Order: sequence, then structure tokens, then C-alpha cells
Amino acid sequence: MNEDKALYPPVDPVVTGIKGLCPRCGQGKLFDGLLKVRPACSSCELDYGFADSGDGPVVFVILIVGFVVVGAALWMEINVNPPLWLHFLLWIPLAVILSLALTRMLKGVLINLQYRNNARPGEIDRG
Ligand SMILES: [Zn+2]
Repeated sequence: MNEDKALYPPVDPVVTGIKGLCPRCGQGKLFDGLLKVRPACSSCELDYGFADSGDGPVVFVILIVGFVVVGAALWMEINVNPPLWLHFLLWIPLAVILSLALTRMLKGVLINLQYRNNARPGEIDRG
């Protein structure tokens, strides 16, 4: 992690993460493309080497998108009873779009929270 002594005003990790911005300065971009994390902040040059959200965002995406899409499909099946092809046409693209958008937002939030709380893999201090 970059150890310079510059001071940055605190940023809200949830808002900054949803926007996909740097956890330290809240200005530079966090992502290079849709989901790939940049090597460093373009604004304050914070090294994003620490950023590892792992499976965290995906777990939330599976739970939230699964609830929304399956709930909507069940509601529609019971109340409208459309043909099967219409279910596929509606719910598969919706699930893909919601999953990609939500994964980006939640990955940003979790990386911002990781930086703010100084979270990292456990280490054994034998010194
Ligand atoms: Zn930055």
C-alpha cells in the first residue's frame, strides 16, 4: 500500500464504491473496463495491489438477483401464465444485465470497505 503522508478527506465507501471510484481520494477510477481493477489510482496513484474482493460480491449478487428474478418469474407464471419462450426471453437477459451491473457496484463497495477498514488476509506474527 502507498505509504505517503498526504491527507485525504474521508470518502463514503458505499457511495464511492457504487460509482467505481478510488477508496482513498474518491476521484480516480477503480476499474479498467467493466470488472477488472486498475493497477493504481489515476488521480492519487494509490496502488490497488491490496484490492482483493474475492467471492464476496458474487455471493451477494447470487442472493439478490436470484431473489428478484425468480420472484418475478414466479409472480408472472402465476398471474399471467405466459409461454415458456417468453420466460426465457425476459429472465435470462435480465439476470445477466442485473448480475453484471450489481457485481461491479458491489465489488467497488467491498474494495472501498477493505481499504477503509484495512482488511487483509490473516498473518501470523512470530516476531
Ligand atoms: Zn485515488
